[in-house]
Amino acid sequence: MKQKETLSTTPLKEAHIDLSNLLLEEMGDEHKASSVETPLRADAFDISDEEKIAAIAPHFKAIMEILGMDLRDDSLRGTPLRVAKMYVKELFQGLNPANMPSMTLFENKFQYNEMLVEKNINFYTNCEHHFVPFFGKAHVAYISSGKVIGLSKLNRLVEYFSKRPQVQERLTMQIGKALQTVLQTQDIAVMMDAKHLCVSSRGVKDDSSNTITTYFGGKFQEENTKNEFLKYIDIND
Ligand SMILES: [Zn+2]
Repeated sequence: MKQKETLSTTPLKEAHIDLSNLLLEEMGDEHKASSVETPLRADAFDISDEEKIAAIAPHFKAIMEILGMDLRDDSLRGTPLRVAKMYVKELFQGLNPANMPSMTLFENKFQYNEMLVEKNINFYTNCEHHFVPFFGKAHVAYISSGKVIGLSKLNRLVEYFSKRPQVQERLTMQIGKALQTVLQTQDIAVMMDAKHLCVSSRGVKDDSSNTITTYFGGKFQEENTKNEFLKYIDIND
């Protein structure tokens, strides 16, 4: 199923274009998401991945040089191209809807009408405010509306949306809404439990805190169903 993407410039920037950089930086540290959709430019995919890699490498080289690093050193020489490839082909591959995993549905032949929970899905993503990782576990659940999906597809969907510059709130909602579309049901739950390196390795340097975000749709908004899900995932395990 093709994921619907709204192409627009970043609303955060538009809304605060006249304010100081300081305010934008503070908003970044608050990790507020501006929209459920990833803010993308209309021309986001006008050039190929190879053209993007070739364009990013010299910019990254310039950053390293401005920091004072000697790019003639053997250990550093390959870094700009390596980083450019990693950005386009790995870490941020999920920006392009063409890379959305195929989502084949099956008839629910077993008439299994209870909750299905896939817990402890590992995910790695990058904070869009600092471009450093945040990572942790995703727990997703659905109640079949007559269709079921291969379990590994749930992991693939989490991975796809993780491969973007992200904020945890948006990542959680994107996964939840995509599951609702794919599985043709509102009855979806997503919980994400993550550590943010921009919180632990810099700034306030809080090493022990985790961030938890949730998305509850349909029956999961009812107390009983929600509690059943929370009991299964028991995140203190
Ligand atoms: Zn951050």
